[in-house]
Amino acid sequence: MNAGTVETAERHRVAANLEEFINRNPATGEEIGRHPVLMAGEVEALLERAEKASVSWGALPAKERAKHLRRFRKQIVRDMDEIVDTICAETGKTKMDGVFEIFTVAEHVKYMEKYGAAYLKDEPRSTGLYKNKKAWVTFQPKGVIGIISPWNYPFILTAGPIAQALMAGNTVVVKPSEVTPATTLKMREIADRAGLPADVFLVATGDGRTGQAIVESPRTKMICFTGSTATGRKIAEICGRMLKPVLLELGGKDPMIVLDDAPLERATHAALWGGMSNSGQTCISVERVLVHEKVKDRFIELLQKNIVNLKQGVQSEHPSVGSMAFDKQLGIVLDHIDEAKSKGARIVAGGNRNVRYPRGLFIEPTIVVVNDSNLKVWKDETFGPVIALRTFSTDAEAIDMANDSVYGLNGSVWSKNKGRARKIARQIRSGCLCINDVMANYILSDLPFGGQKESGMGRVYGREGLRAFTDLQSVMEDRFTMTRELWWFPYSEKI
Ligand code: NAD
Repeated sequence: MNAGTVETAERHRVAANLEEFINRNPATGEEIGRHPVLMAGEVEALLERAEKASVSWGALPAKERAKHLRRFRKQIVRDMDEIVDTICAETGKTKMDGVFEIFTVAEHVKYMEKYGAAYLKDEPRSTGLYKNKKAWVTFQPKGVIGIISPWNYPFILTAGPIAQALMAGNTVVVKPSEVTPATTLKMREIADRAGLPADVFLVATGDGRTGQAIVESPRTKMICFTGSTATGRKIAEICGRMLKPVLLELGGKDPMIVLDDAPLERATHAALWGGMSNSGQTCISVERVLVHEKVKDRFIELLQKNIVNLKQGVQSEHPSVGSMAFDKQLGIVLDHIDEAKSKGARIVAGGNRNVRYPRGLFIEPTIVVVNDSNLKVWKDETFGPVIALRTFSTDAEAIDMANDSVYGLNGSVWSKNKGRARKIARQIRSGCLCINDVMANYILSDLPFGGQKESGMGRVYGREGLRAFTDLQSVMEDRFTMTRELWWFPYSEKI
């Protein structure tokens, strides 16, 4: 048992006979921890504690909750080396990708501390014709929020929702991915060091069964889920039956549109960063590049020239691209590459498992020029260091191709002509979009983040995200200033 498991066992009084799952460092294959699978009974006990804690936490003034978040953020920054080591050990990420998680969380938490109280203040509304009234909207905490997260950014995708839910006056029970529980357990330790009140943030380790128990419990008043579209659909079905609010942050197949007047060198670097950082295991990765036929050859040439500079390897080699996080994901990515190869797509870079690391789950950074829109690598979420590329000849064709996906999470348009780029951007059906940049909108805390179509429902971050973790109460108060009564029984003959 590692320290994280002991912590869970002691703090959450986990029964000794629970099933365990084993975690391995995917870059080296070494075992790094064992964690219990909490079942409905244990989950319910945690939810009960969070429910009790929600009474006093929700009653704290928002500014006081912001002070707790501030201490939490400062502790995260103080202990960042410890957190980054944990993240990298369980995901096989590069140090840079791990550090990116810390900075992004620090930025999002700081935003909540700074603006949260203002966004949760009662908001006056117009009373229209009714001059003798006063009206406002109050943002009430919901109670206990169930947060279920994936493995690809185990720190951001857990700490981000936690900060918003806590700021809004809720308490949380978090179910981290079974691939990356140690990062969330480390976060809990850090919350203790920062003096966060007991039971406002609890962790339930486990698998889909644990997540389902959180969703099905009447104690959770909202579910914030980040993960695959398939799991999101199952959760939404249960929440639909229970009439429980659910926020869904799901998969993507993001397009990058490179127009004939794009700054090509810059766009190439962006494509490589957007497609290969975090080994392509990012919901807003550049998965599809749509390049104008006039500049296709030059663009591919630049990609090939620059991709060779991406060093892949284990932590000690200071690589720019790490490994896949676990074997199932490795299998999906290799399957997409193999199908593309077998159906005549042209691999212009990479295309194989990196055999330099026989025990590590490495796939070479890969570029595939695609001739068939039905290939998995073009249609399905690959979630690996793979960019699929196709050409177009008109702006209208690029828009149609970009929108031809069940997903609509992010995307980008590249052109020196901002007017042309913005016109195209407005026609792309995605929750987020960048112009002459990739993925960067995620780090702007004032921008709501989320997907259209099968990429999700609802938004996190920004004032919209924070308020998604509240219940709205519309209040109307009479001023008692008017002499004439309106609309009361008995009705008057004259209206
Ligand atoms: P996943 O759906 O397999 O698992 C996500 C979480 O759900 C895990 O904690 C898992 O244990 C839990 N779970 C599984 N079955 C469940 C059930 N029936 N009920 C409740 N919980 C259940 O996803 P993953 O493989 O961990 O993550 C990768 C996916 O996440 C990709 O599709 C990626 O695009 C998506 N993602 C989306 C965003 C976003 O913000 N839109 C961000 C990151 C990742």
